[in-house]
Amino acid sequence: MVAAEPIRFVSTRGQAPGLLFDEALLQGLAPDGGLYIPTRIPQLPSSIWKQAASFADMAANVLTRWLQGVFSAEVIAWTVAEALSFPVPLVPLGDERYVLELFHGPTLSFKDFGARTMARLALEVLGRRDEHLLVLVATSGDTGSAVADGFAGLERVRVGLIYPYGQVSPVQERQLIVQRPGVQAFAVHGTFDDCQRLVKSAFADPDFARVRLSSANSINVGRLLPQMLYYVWAVAAGGFDEVVFCVPSGNLGNLTGGVLAALSGLPIRRLVAAHNANDFFPRFLAGKGPAFGPSRRTLSNAMDVGAPSNFERLQALLGEALPARIWGTSVSDEATLATIRNVYETTGYLADPHTAVGLEAARRYRAATGDRTPQVVLATAHPAKFPEVIRQALGFEPEAPEALARLWKQKVSVVRVEATLEALKAHLLPYVAAWP
Ligand SMILES: *Cc1c(COP(=O)(O)O)cnc(C)c1O
Repeated sequence: MVAAEPIRFVSTRGQAPGLLFDEALLQGLAPDGGLYIPTRIPQLPSSIWKQAASFADMAANVLTRWLQGVFSAEVIAWTVAEALSFPVPLVPLGDERYVLELFHGPTLSFKDFGARTMARLALEVLGRRDEHLLVLVATSGDTGSAVADGFAGLERVRVGLIYPYGQVSPVQERQLIVQRPGVQAFAVHGTFDDCQRLVKSAFADPDFARVRLSSANSINVGRLLPQMLYYVWAVAAGGFDEVVFCVPSGNLGNLTGGVLAALSGLPIRRLVAAHNANDFFPRFLAGKGPAFGPSRRTLSNAMDVGAPSNFERLQALLGEALPARIWGTSVSDEATLATIRNVYETTGYLADPHTAVGLEAARRYRAATGDRTPQVVLATAHPAKFPEVIRQALGFEPEAPEALARLWKQKVSVVRVEATLEALKAHLLPYVAAWP
């Protein structure tokens, strides 16, 4: 491999200095309020997916090209081996349709990829600098548990999980509030957008200036880069010449991972953005202009986002080319339930509500465009995380895997707060006061 200058990351708003990956990872949001984007995108040789020996091998190979000059090949190989040690099956559904199951990590959603990788890279950086980190994460369900699981017990890290009370499923809530070392969950009286706003205002608050804060939300480059890896893996596992990826989307972080993969040369014909009733992005793609709105509650609640945080980054990465690369649609709850039923009856495949939005979007894309390119739908969560929805669709509940069954025997810890920064501060500042 040719040794090149390490890749720098600059803000989408152009008012912050360019940084190397390690600093961008610790910062999360840029100081000018923008999101970090790479100034250069390494081109991947096709041998990476044509001759991939294993997921870990492929992943280390890809990440080394992005992170060289910042982390050694050994650190990257170790990180990937530790963080991404679970299977990533590509399941054929017939008729050139596939599902890539991204839910075999410890918290059973695709967010384990980003969170677990980011946690290990952050630990490496904090150790080098002798620093501590408070991770504040707004979550509508899956992010929080993945981040908590990824960062729990790391010496130099505390995690505050901030979620909308009563708006996550019972299983998701249980995953958030089980006791983990160094992690505190907060149930906010408000919406997911309120939670995101709280985290943003904490970043700007002088009382937090003493501690280093990071949002481990999908805006973080430490989460973004690992979310590129399974796109490459799908092409390797399926042996595709070209492929359409269909991505159940909320904050558009997963989709942005696919865009980075496409820009680095992976043969992606089109990305399909599959949204629920929160239809900001499909409306934008249809030329109706960006109009952020409040989030609406749906059955696929991890995608209930009115103002997708990665939109600004997608625009900065793709510019004018955005509508040509991405096709989008909005799927109602009724259509989601009908898809769970229909796919189960015709193929025997049990899809969770988020994956079902993806499956329906894939069907619509093919019907609307006539494009017969093989399709890979990203299966973003295990169906057992949403037993109520599966029961509503099919009349029975899926069997809970061991990782879920265990949760109900563990101790929990959660603090209920109003949706104000003051309320949050009263709990968080003492929590980190013990740091040097
Ligand atoms: C977070 C999440 C999504 C949406 O991913 P984004 O990166 O926010 O677009 C989809 N499905 C599940 C199960 C999720 O947890």
